[in-house]
Amino acid sequence: MQRVKRVLVTGGAGFLGSFLCERLLGEGHEVVCVDNFFTGSRRNVSHLLDDRSFEIIRHDVTFPLYIEVDEIYNLACPASPVHYQFDPVQTTKTSVHGAINMLGLAKRVRAKILQASTSEVYGDPEVHPQKEDYWGRVNPIGLRSCYDEGKRCAETLFFDYWRQHRLRIKVARIFNTYGPRMRPDDGRVISNFIVQALQNQPITVYGNGQQSRSFCYVNDLIDGLVRLMQTADDVTGPINLGNPVEFTMLELANLVIELTGSRSKIKFLPLPVDDPRQRQPDIGYASRELNWKPRIALRDGLAKTIAYFDDLVSSGHAGSAA
Ligand code: NAD
Ligand code: UDP
Ligand code: UDP
Repeated sequence: MQRVKRVLVTGGAGFLGSFLCERLLGEGHEVVCVDNFFTGSRRNVSHLLDDRSFEIIRHDVTFPLYIEVDEIYNLACPASPVHYQFDPVQTTKTSVHGAINMLGLAKRVRAKILQASTSEVYGDPEVHPQKEDYWGRVNPIGLRSCYDEGKRCAETLFFDYWRQHRLRIKVARIFNTYGPRMRPDDGRVISNFIVQALQNQPITVYGNGQQSRSFCYVNDLIDGLVRLMQTADDVTGPINLGNPVEFTMLELANLVIELTGSRSKIKFLPLPVDDPRQRQPDIGYASRELNWKPRIALRDGLAKTIAYFDDLVSSGHAGSAA
């Protein structure tokens, strides 16, 4: 039987973090969720609050944290462009100072530590699909840089703590992931399209809608993160986690309209600056090392996500898409 571990999840009250806390508690571990509630909320973890193995601490990871844990999943950081560009200096601090503090904590207690990195480290890539050995094409001074460069610097810190202090590190490069518990005003494309479709409002496609993304359902992604944490100590990553099936934003808009039976029409808006034109993970390394691949097709994952937002919209909690 697996030993019960004490696991810290930073950003644990966010979209991915809340599913991760749930999964770890389900495996019998003690979970400490640390969050400053910038984009996360207590509501995301309200169903876990009665569990005696679950603890929640309001804390900003840019400040030091002294607790005793066996493993750390470092997820704290807003992930949607709308939210990470709201206070870009804080976004970089969260990635960089947050990584330093969590690595310092891991070093003191000799904990294993996993970083939620991102496909954004590849920027607007000239290599397609993206493999882990591609160094990326990132604008260092643009509107997305606080997120992209912050995450790149966090990866640097992880590998320097590994080289210099022999820390046990794992770096996951997460590609676009969606599912229930995304905020209706999250601003990312799937929650925007679904909320708009359910309210029969125009679907806001940016640019000509020919840019592509590959969307992974949340449960598949969490399974990948947990498998990565369980790998042998010499497996550090970086490792791509995502669903390699690629869609254009126009295809996504039409699929959401079809699945919701909406009367919405498509409205074209300007493309945001530095918006990557295409993105698709090469998951060869993850499938070999973790024996992992996503199982939930976009159509099925969207149906589950639509059901979640449908409840929010009918109960009047949805507001409008950002
Ligand atoms: P999210 O915004 O729902 O969750 C982020 C959580 O971090 C929130 O609960 C927020 O309150 C918390 N947080 C932010 N700044 C903090 C700080 N300084 N101190 C403590 N807590 C803080 O986003 P998500 O989609 O759940 O993303 C989680 C992680 O995964 C992020 O690190 C993100 O960069 C990474 N990621 C996500 C995706 C995706 O598609 N969902 C893709 C790539 C990478
Ligand atoms: N730190 C923390 N919790 C700990 C240990 C360290 O938050 O349990 C923070 C502390 O702020 C420190 C940072 O992590 O500055 C980096 O720690 P490290 O030991 O690498 O460096 P140093 O203490 O020499 O700055
Ligand atoms: N997008 C869109 N309409 C929206 C929100 C986003 O067309 O209402 C586009 C956006 O320009 C990008 C893609 O959808 O090309 C994915 O955007 P998201 O913010 O979800 O993720 P990221 O750009 O970080 O991959």
